[in-house]
Amino acid sequence: MTVYKAPVRDINFVINELLDFNAHYQTIPSGAEATPDMIEAITAEAAKFAEEVLAPLNQSGDDQGCQWDDGVVTTPDGFKEAYQMWIEGGWQGLSHPVEYGGQGLPMSMGLIKSELVGTANWSWGMYPGLSLGAMNTLYVHGTEEQKQLYLTKLCEGTWTGTMCLTEAHCGSDLGQMRCKADPQDDGSYKIDGTKIFISAGEHDFAENIIHIVLARTPGAPEGTKGISLFIVPKFNTSEDGTITDRNGVKCGSIEHKMGIHGNATCVMNFDSATGYMLGKENEGLNAMFTFMNTARIGTAIQGLAASELAYQNALPYALDRYSMRSLSGVKNPEKVADAIIHHPDVRRMLLTAKAFAEGGRAMIYDAAKYSDRMVHADSQEDRDAAENELGFLTPILKAFLTETGLESASNAMQVFGGHGFIKEHGMEQIYRDARIATLYEGTTGIQAMDLIGRKVVLDSFKLYGSFCKKLYKFGFKNLISGKRRGYSAKLIGYTLSWNWHTVKMVARASKNRDAVGAASYDFLMYSGYLSMAYYWAMMAEVAAAKLAEGSSDKDFYEGKLETAEFYFSRLLPRAKGHAACMNSSTDSVMAMPLDRFTTR
Ligand SMILES: Cc1cc2nc3c(=O)[nH]c(=O)nc-3n(C[C@H](O)[C@H](O)[C@H](O)COP(=O)(O)OP(=O)(O)OC[C@H]3O[C@@H](n4cnc5c(N)ncnc54)[C@H](O)[C@@H]3O)c2cc1C
Repeated sequence: MTVYKAPVRDINFVINELLDFNAHYQTIPSGAEATPDMIEAITAEAAKFAEEVLAPLNQSGDDQGCQWDDGVVTTPDGFKEAYQMWIEGGWQGLSHPVEYGGQGLPMSMGLIKSELVGTANWSWGMYPGLSLGAMNTLYVHGTEEQKQLYLTKLCEGTWTGTMCLTEAHCGSDLGQMRCKADPQDDGSYKIDGTKIFISAGEHDFAENIIHIVLARTPGAPEGTKGISLFIVPKFNTSEDGTITDRNGVKCGSIEHKMGIHGNATCVMNFDSATGYMLGKENEGLNAMFTFMNTARIGTAIQGLAASELAYQNALPYALDRYSMRSLSGVKNPEKVADAIIHHPDVRRMLLTAKAFAEGGRAMIYDAAKYSDRMVHADSQEDRDAAENELGFLTPILKAFLTETGLESASNAMQVFGGHGFIKEHGMEQIYRDARIATLYEGTTGIQAMDLIGRKVVLDSFKLYGSFCKKLYKFGFKNLISGKRRGYSAKLIGYTLSWNWHTVKMVARASKNRDAVGAASYDFLMYSGYLSMAYYWAMMAEVAAAKLAEGSSDKDFYEGKLETAEFYFSRLLPRAKGHAACMNSSTDSVMAMPLDRFTTR
C-alpha cells in the first residue's frame, strides 16, 4: 500500500521563499485575508485531510471501483463519507466569492489544496475537481440568477458539477459534435444526445449534479463556431433550489478502465433533458475554455502528484532493499549487500522523480498567480493579459508535467524491481492512475499543436517573446550577480537555442505545413525542459542565498542544490535531443505512403 506525507516544507519553500505569495497577495483583493498564518493553517488542515482521510482510501478505492446499477452509481466504501467531511469543512468554496457562499480566498490557495488532495487520492479528488471547473465557468459566464441558483450550491458542495464535451466519434475535434439543443417557449432548451467518458457524471456524493454540456442549436454553423454551452441539472429545481423532479439525463453505463477506478467515467444519455444556455449562443466552445484551462491546470497537478507520490514511495524501498555491493566500496558492511539507493542507476530514477515533482510544483504555483490576476483584474485588458499569459503556459504545464509524471511513476515502479509490478505495493496503481493524465483534457499531441500553432505562430510570437524575455532577464541578471552563475549561463544558452530552432522550424513550415505537426511534440518537450530549468535556476539561487546567510535548515537547501545540479546535468540536456528532432527532415515522418505501413 502506498503512503502519503504532504510535502509541507517544500510547499512553504515555494510559496514563501521562491514566489513570495505574501507580496503577490497584497496586490489582489482576495489576498487581504490570505495572511501567512492563514495560508499555513489551511495548508496544514488540507494536509491532514489528505493524509488521514483520503490516502487510506486510495488503494481500497482502486480495488473496489465504482459500481453501476440501472443508472445508479455507487462509489467505493468511504468515498461519500469523505466527501461529507469535505463539504462540512467548507473546502469546496475556498477560493470562490463570499456572495456565492465561498470563502473568498485566492484561486492559488485552491491549487495548493488540489495538490494535497490529488496526490493522496486522485480518483476521489476528481469529484470536487470537476465541480471546480463548473464553478469557474458559471462564475465567468453565468447570469446573476444562474450564479445564485447553481454556484451557491456548488460552493456549498451539496451539488457537484461535470463537464460534458466528448462524444463517441469526437474528443479532440469537438467541431464534429452532434448533441442537440432545441429552444422552448419558456426560454429553456431540450437537450438530446449522448456524451461519453464523463468523469463524475453520476455518483452517490450529492443531492444534485449540474452537467455543463456542449450542444448545437438548430441551424447553428458547422464546426466549432456552432457550439453553445448549457446547464443541465440531474434534478430539476424551483428557483430557490428546491429539488422538484428528475430531468431527462441518465447514466447509461460506466467504463471499465486502466486506472482511476474510484472515479466514475460515465456514458450520459440526454433525452429531452431541460437545459439552460450558459453564455452566448454559438460561443460555447470559448466559454468552455474557462473550464478547460482550469481542468488543464488541474491535470498538470496530476502529473506533479504522480511524481511526488512515486518519489515518496520509492524512496523508503530504495533505503531498505539490499542488492549487491556498491561500485565505490561497501556501504552497509553489517548487511549481506548494500541498499539499492547506493547504486547510481537507482539514484538516477529517484532524483528524476524528485526533480520533476519539485520543479513541477514551482511551475504550477507560479502559474497560479496568473489565475489570481485573471479573477481580480481591474480591467478587461488586464484580465486578457493574465489569461493570455496563463494560456501560453497551460499546454506546457499540462503536457510536459503529465509526461514527466508518468516517467516518474514508471521509474519508481522500476526501483521496486519485480515487486513494482505486484499490486500490493501500490506502485503499479500510481502508474495506471497517472496514465490517463496525458490523454484527457487534450492529449499531449493536441497540447503540442495548441502551443506551437495558436500560442506561438498565430500569436505572432508575442507571448513566446515575453516568456523568453523573462528567462533572459533572470539569466543575465544572475549571470552577473547570482550565486549559481553556471545555471544562468545554461538557461541563456538553451533559450537562445530554443529561439533558433523555433525560427528555423517556422521557416521550414512555410514550405511544408506538416513540419509544424512533425516538430510539435519535440517543441513542447523542449519548452517544458526549458521552463523547468528556469524554476530550478531560481530555486538554486534562493537555496544558495539561504545557505550563505547561515540558515539552520542546511539539509533542505543542500538537497535543493543537489537536485538542481542533477536537473541541469542529467535532465535538461534531453532538450538537445528534442531540438535535433524538431528540425530533422519532415519526410522521415511523412514520406511513407499509407499502404507501405502494412508491408511487413
Ligand atoms: C477516464 C477518462 C475520463 C474523461 N473525462 C472526460 C470528461 O469528464 N468530460 C469529457 O468531455 N471528456 C472526458 N474524457 C474524454 C477525453 O478528454 C478524450 O478522450 C480526449 O480528449 C481524446 O479524445 P479522443 O479519445 O476522441 O481521441 P481522438 O481525438 O480520436 O485522438 C486520437 C489520437 O489522435 C491524435 N490527434 C487527433 N487529432 C490530432 C491532430 N489534429 N493533430 C495531432 N494529433 C491528433 C490525438 O492526440 C490522439 O493521440 C475522458 C476520457 C477518459 C478516458
